[in-house]
Amino acid sequence: MKATAVSALFQTQFPLVQGGMIWCSSWRLASAVSNAGGLGLIGSGSMYPEVLREHIQQCQAATDKPFGVNVPLLYPNIEEHMNSIVELGVKIVFTSAGNPATWTSWLKERGITVVHVVSNSKFALKAAQAGVDAIVAEGFEAGGHNGREETTTLCLIPQIREALNAGGYSDLPLIAAGGVASGGAIAACLALGADGVQIGSLFAAAEESSAHENFKKAILEAGDGATQLTLKELTPVRLLKNPFWQAVQEAYARGASPEELAELLGRGRAKKGMFEGDLNEGELEIGQVAAQISAVKSARAIIEQLNQEYHQAIGRLK
Ligand code: NDP
Repeated sequence: MKATAVSALFQTQFPLVQGGMIWCSSWRLASAVSNAGGLGLIGSGSMYPEVLREHIQQCQAATDKPFGVNVPLLYPNIEEHMNSIVELGVKIVFTSAGNPATWTSWLKERGITVVHVVSNSKFALKAAQAGVDAIVAEGFEAGGHNGREETTTLCLIPQIREALNAGGYSDLPLIAAGGVASGGAIAACLALGADGVQIGSLFAAAEESSAHENFKKAILEAGDGATQLTLKELTPVRLLKNPFWQAVQEAYARGASPEELAELLGRGRAKKGMFEGDLNEGELEIGQVAAQISAVKSARAIIEQLNQEYHQAIGRLK
């Protein structure tokens, strides 16, 4: 892969970021990705404050390369997470699921590089105005929490690039996410106007991911159409179609209200599915690219393969 504004911003070999996924993105995964030339992220959304501190310290011990932390802005104990990040000297923070104006200046005043995740042009401009250093634009194909607009990555990247250019932010690095699980997809994202990519699902199934083995196996077995974006009345989320998803379908069929859907979802479903491996009752958050994942590999092997495929794709275009 070629050097871009994204690899320059993060001081990484490749313009490639691993998604900071709840229940998957532990210090082990983040450090393995960083050691292999990408930017590893710890997913703090599923970590209690003391757990995040431990993961940051373990990651610092496991790599001397840059890494970051993803913080969902709706996290209940967000001040504690942010204070740990600053105290422990983390240099890069990705924020998601919330208003970028809330924490960006606070983090930047403390010397931290800030990136915000969006799924439409309006929020891309809002993030740019809040002073972020880069934007992740995440399309409809992505796993887990997602935008309501259902804009695919193929449409989203050029739209956001154009909106940023028109808003006077043409130099702001743009990272494409959603549907990226091959070197060809990376080449496509760069061709569309992105400066790098963020990859989740491939790394959720990596050896170093803290996801349960049952969940990894379910990812390998997933084929075309195995996932769906659902629960839009609450927070839209892309899930593997399992018995829990089926129960959601049945709730829709009987005209369930948002309150009934929230009750059905309950608490801790994602942990049950992705971390404890309950494939029936749990929520299994994964992207459409699950259909392309056929083996559990190390983060290094994944990145080497992506790099090779990227060069093959560029070669084909020549
Ligand atoms: P739930 O409300 O269903 O459950 C909360 C889960 O988070 C529990 O499993 C709990 O672990 C764990 N947890 C970690 N820290 C805390 C805390 N301080 N207070 C309460 N619970 C905590 O939420 P979800 O599992 O659906 O999501 C967890 C978090 O991840 C949320 O903040 C959510 O918004 C975020 N998220 C963000 C995404 C994104 O940014 N794109 C994608 C998906 C989720 P335990 O069971 O051990 O108590």
